[in-house]
Amino acid sequence: MPEAPKNTLKPTADYNLELKNKKTLQFIEDVTSNADEVQKKVLEEILSRNAHVEYLQTRGLNGHTDRETFKKTMPVITYEDIQPHIDRIANGDTSPILSSNAISEFLTSSGTSGGERKMMPTIEEELGRRSLLYSLLMPVMSQFVPGLDKGKGMYFLFIKSEAKTPGGLVARPVLTSYYKSTHFKDRPYDPYTNYTSPNETILCPDSYQSMYSQMLCGLWQHKEVLRVGAVFASGFIRAIKFLEKHWRLLCNDIRTGTIDSQITDQSVREAVMKILKPDPKLADFIEAECSKDSWQGIITRLWPNTKYVDVIVTGTMSQYIPTLDYYSNGLPLVCTMYASSECYFGVNLNPLCKPSEVSYTLVPTMAYFEFLPVQRNNGVTSSISVPKTLNEKEQQELVDLVDVKLGQEYELVVTTYSGLYRYRVGDVLRVAGFKNNAPQFNFICRKNVVLCIDSDKTDEVELQNAVKNAVNHLLPFGATLAEYTSYADTTTIPGHYVLYWELSLNGNTPIPPSVFEDCCLTIEESLNSVYRQGRVCDKSIGPLEIKVVEPGTFDKLMDYAISLGASINQYKTPRCVKFAPIVELLNSRAVSSYFSPKCPKWFPGHKQWSNNN
Ligand code: AMP
Repeated sequence: MPEAPKNTLKPTADYNLELKNKKTLQFIEDVTSNADEVQKKVLEEILSRNAHVEYLQTRGLNGHTDRETFKKTMPVITYEDIQPHIDRIANGDTSPILSSNAISEFLTSSGTSGGERKMMPTIEEELGRRSLLYSLLMPVMSQFVPGLDKGKGMYFLFIKSEAKTPGGLVARPVLTSYYKSTHFKDRPYDPYTNYTSPNETILCPDSYQSMYSQMLCGLWQHKEVLRVGAVFASGFIRAIKFLEKHWRLLCNDIRTGTIDSQITDQSVREAVMKILKPDPKLADFIEAECSKDSWQGIITRLWPNTKYVDVIVTGTMSQYIPTLDYYSNGLPLVCTMYASSECYFGVNLNPLCKPSEVSYTLVPTMAYFEFLPVQRNNGVTSSISVPKTLNEKEQQELVDLVDVKLGQEYELVVTTYSGLYRYRVGDVLRVAGFKNNAPQFNFICRKNVVLCIDSDKTDEVELQNAVKNAVNHLLPFGATLAEYTSYADTTTIPGHYVLYWELSLNGNTPIPPSVFEDCCLTIEESLNSVYRQGRVCDKSIGPLEIKVVEPGTFDKLMDYAISLGASINQYKTPRCVKFAPIVELLNSRAVSSYFSPKCPKWFPGHKQWSNNN
């Protein structure tokens, strides 16, 4: 995840990039060599400064700051365990409940609880820690790709809407918080954070105007662009799709040196007009490239000096690799960092490696990390089993950062400076190697998530409830749902959820298409707020589709799974499919298909708040 500079700032006379890079790389050497000591200190620091907070006191930590007492005394928790505390803070209780520092805002995670975004309390100084992690990325990258200080990065970065809690604290996603902070807006000169997008275009709350203006600036400065990206792969592909739809308007602006009248945000207009000058030749060039039948390699054609695409393609985002390869003609796909609303975790020290080999080195100064061993259930689904609540023995089995074993999978547990203690993040990681004494992890998956297109994360229980609500529409027709499964279809842009339904028809009344469309919409209305925001606000998820399949399709699916080695006794219909031959089997037996006719409802903030947005 990149960061932008104040483009207007110029280097001071004593600016020494080489020295700066050297110092950063030395920092990485130091903290990874002394990983255990650093971790010990981090825990001591967190516990001593928070010794008097209610959460630690009521559990009887009694001011102890050592690992042994901490592990014996403090439970390993999930969001639901601390939700009552979080609700109190959201409702205006300013006493030191979780942290002795004032809670500055809530970071709204894309992970949800009860259909709403989880809210992570944070403190002002965490912004410094996030900045520190960002500052490691380019010195690492520059070891592999020289000369990146000689040009610009074209990154599509966006803010999302924010809400206020009843107690008056702002609640917004972590990147929105970061981009709006002075750490981002007023950064001192750094050649590595020289971006084509002026801050005003990133900070524009209207997603169309923000995308349009960022694309316009990126096209106009096309020769200077050395790297392109967005946070997640899905976001970058959305930008390319936007270009496909709007290149004529964009070319017109470049030709005339003006900005389209749909861009009404004054600060955006002013910032863009500082860059844009009429360039009919460039407009002709872009027009010629964009009107070709094939868009293969469009990135390298329009931005010919691009050396790599900087987007996260690990985890569920790996589904976008073929599309990115197509548009970029196989440029390196670079995953630089691993982070969350709870805490920023680590960096990829070998950024030019293949996406399937990416590993993140957790930076020991960011938080105190522990690891819960995970068992894998072998079989066709190779599902991952992690207990929901942990007994005392299991709580003792958590291992420290330097004690993880090569090849073993773990769930990440963090204790942060902002007031999370032994908190289960929900991500499963596998130890891929070590940098000095610090382990490097492959990102395996987020627990329980079955469907994901963008930042949405839908789990099996949410899907099941949503389907249950929808099938009520079928009752008047004497139809019931015999079986179902789902698929995240990313061949469309934006991608969308597909549900395969096999029906038992008992009545004779035909079911009109509008009833299935109502089913689609009911499912969307029942899904979590991150999904609905993606549909409504960001348009990052397309309308949900139901494909009705022939009777007997799910028996065929079972036969197929058994032919691949699944046990007949233990076979359960997978509620989500990914394996291409299975998707093909389902598609070949689809008899009709229906889409959600409109967007579901979505409001910023939790449903129980009246927000002041
Ligand atoms: P959020 O709390 O909404 O910022 O989402 C954080 C989650 O996004 C993490 O816990 C991961 O599940 C996922 N995530 C973040 N960075 C990466 C990455 N580099 N690769 C795969 N998943 C990631």
